Amino acid sequence: MATEERLYEQLIYEEPAPKVARIVMNRPSRRNAQGITMTYELDDAFKRACHDDQINVIILAAAGDHFNAGHDISGEGPQNPERDQVAGLWGGDYQGKGWSGFYAREKEIYLEITERWRNAPKPTIAEIQGSVISGGMMLTWMCDLIVCSEDARFRDATAAEMGIPGAEFFQHPYEMSVRQAKEWLMTGGWMSAREAERRGMVNHVVPREELPARTLELAETIAARNPFTMKLVKQAINFAQDQMGRKASMDHAFQMHQIGHMQAMLVNGFPIDIESLPPVIRANVEKLFAARKAGTQD
Ligand code: ZN
Repeated sequence: MATEERLYEQLIYEEPAPKVARIVMNRPSRRNAQGITMTYELDDAFKRACHDDQINVIILAAAGDHFNAGHDISGEGPQNPERDQVAGLWGGDYQGKGWSGFYAREKEIYLEITERWRNAPKPTIAEIQGSVISGGMMLTWMCDLIVCSEDARFRDATAAEMGIPGAEFFQHPYEMSVRQAKEWLMTGGWMSAREAERRGMVNHVVPREELPARTLELAETIAARNPFTMKLVKQAINFAQDQMGRKASMDHAFQMHQIGHMQAMLVNGFPIDIESLPPVIRANVEKLFAARKAGTQD
């Protein structure tokens, strides 16, 4: 297996079989929470796999017990990308006045970059174990195929606990029925791997110990096909999904998402509705907010 771990701080990039790249989120102590470092390392790794003519299929996996805990709001590490990392063209100062900075930041690091990965021309497969929460759903849904272990479970807590009507990459009503999406968001409840399979959200549920092998088997099957045809299949089906309104709905939901953040900011002075947060998380967020106010953290 060709592995080049040293290239990245929070990822492992490996080629477990010919024509297959496996990108592993490698921040298990933080349940692979996605901050700026991981975001732009992922962007680099996807670009690398897409530009490599020897690679036909890309697996997105995660180290540790859980696939992804969502966006990193701990305040650790860089909070904004460097100018030369930025992938989109919106531009602007991410600490700009009023809502301009927050809007530009969310558009760049959550909405547009995830959409770009979703539109990566090569087939992508998510390999999922353990819990997937809120922003982690974005990394799940952006993949073409999803293989998960029996212990996988899914939750978007943004509406129930943060005052925001769903994660930025808003694909909820295209991943399950409209009523299921509403209930799932309104209650913030867990969806099991088997329930996700019943809803058509995941392709396969497999025993935990077989997860990497079964995912790789699927990747190798697809990697053996004509890669140009696989790209055409992906484009055709993605286009069909977009004709069902996916992209337009996502763009609209992004504006609702911003209103949710703004409402929380107006009421609490913080872009998340801290009143709705579970007590432990609320205490951490309040500590972070106090530190920022005191100027000890930017
Ligand atoms: Zn947001």
